[in-house]
Amino acid sequence: MGNQDLDKVIVNSPGRINIIGEHTDYNLGYVLPTSIDKRIRLTIERNNTDTQCEIRSEGYKKALLVDLKHIAPSNTQWENYILGVLYEIYKRNKELKGFQCTIESDLPVGSGVSSSAALECGLAFGLNELFDLGLSKHEIVTLSRDAEHNYVGTKCGIMDQFASVMGKKDHVILLDCKSMDYTYVPFSIAPYKLVLLNSNVSHSLASSEYNTRRNECEEGVSILQKKYPNISSLRDASLEMIDAGKIDMSPKVFDRCTYVVQENIRVLNAVEALEKGDLKKLGTLMYETHEGLRNLYEVSCPELDFLVDFSKNEDEVLGSRLMGGGFGGCTINLVHEDAADSFIQSVSEAYEKEFNIKLSHFEGHPSTGTTLL
Ligand code: ADP
Ligand code: MG
Repeated sequence: MGNQDLDKVIVNSPGRINIIGEHTDYNLGYVLPTSIDKRIRLTIERNNTDTQCEIRSEGYKKALLVDLKHIAPSNTQWENYILGVLYEIYKRNKELKGFQCTIESDLPVGSGVSSSAALECGLAFGLNELFDLGLSKHEIVTLSRDAEHNYVGTKCGIMDQFASVMGKKDHVILLDCKSMDYTYVPFSIAPYKLVLLNSNVSHSLASSEYNTRRNECEEGVSILQKKYPNISSLRDASLEMIDAGKIDMSPKVFDRCTYVVQENIRVLNAVEALEKGDLKKLGTLMYETHEGLRNLYEVSCPELDFLVDFSKNEDEVLGSRLMGGGFGGCTINLVHEDAADSFIQSVSEAYEKEFNIKLSHFEGHPSTGTTLL
C-alpha cells in the first residue's frame, strides 16, 4: 500500500564537493566528499492517475510528460536523468503512480558540484517518501547511479550520488568505494575555509574523455592481472605493481594507473592530516592531486591550470585543485578566511584578463544530505 496520507513532498537535494580523491570512485578507491548548502528543490505531488507524470524544471522550457508504462530514453539530455530514475524505480516497484513535479535549483550546472546526482537522487528520494516505496538510502544511491549509466550514458562512479544523499553537517565522508564502508570525519578548518572558483568553462571533451579514462584504467587492470591474478581493480594495486607492469603498458595507461594509486594514498593521508589539524599538509596534498590530474591523468585545461597556478603565489591559499571530472568546472581552494575576499578579487581580475571570461565563486560548507522539508 502507498502512503495515502501524503499528497505532496518537498525535497532539498544538495550538490556535493570533494576534498580529495578524484577519479578514484570508479576504480573502487577512496574519496572524501560532502554535500553542501546549495541544492535542487523538488516539489512532488500525486495527481491521482495511475501512470501519467509531468515534470517541469525552472529554466527548461518544455515540460516532460511520461507514461510510466512506456518509459524510453529521450533526445533531450536533461530528461534522461528523470527518465532513467523513473525506469529504475518502476521496474522494481509498481506502487509508483502518476505525479507532477516542479524543480528549482541554485546549483551551477556542469561545474563539478554534481547537479546531475542531486537531480537523480532528489527525485528518487521524494518519490520514495511520497509513495512509500521502501527504498533504502543505499538503493536510492545505486539506482540513481544506474540511471546515469543507462539513460544518460555517463559511466560515473558512486561518489556523487552517495555524497548528495549521505552528507552530514560539518563533516566529510571517507568512503571506501570497494566495500561501501564509510566514516564521517569532522571537518573543522577555521580560520581557513573552502572557496570554490567556477571557471565557467565546460569543454565538450568532458563526457567522452571520462569514459575513455575508465577504459584506460580497465586496460591497466587487465595487464596487471597477468602478473597479479588477484587484482580486480586499481584499488588492489600498489605503486610497485604498476612499476612492474610498466613494460607491458602504453605510457598513457601507465600514467593513468600511477595517478589512481597515488591518489588513493593521498586520500588516506588527507584524512590523517585533517584529524591532526595539519591544514598545510592537506593543502599540499590538494596541490599534488592537481599535478596528477594535469600531467598523468590529463583531465585539466588551461583555465583550471591558470587558477591553480595563480593560487600558488598567494601565501594565504594552502591548497587548490580542479574538482570533479575535469575539462572545466570548479577549482576547490583552501584559503585563510581573512584573505579570501582579496584572493577572490585578484584571481577574478587576472582570470578575466587572461581568458575574457568572468569567474564566479561560492563557499563550500559541509551540510546535511538529502532531506524532506
Ligand atoms: P554536474 O553534475 O557536475 O553539474 P553533469 O554534466 O553531470 O554536470 O550534469 C548536468 C546536467 O544535469 C545538465 O546538463 C542537465 O541535463 C541536468 N540538470 C542539472 N540540474 C538540472 C535542473 N535543475 N533541471 C533539469 N536538469 C538539470
Ligand atoms: Mg554530474
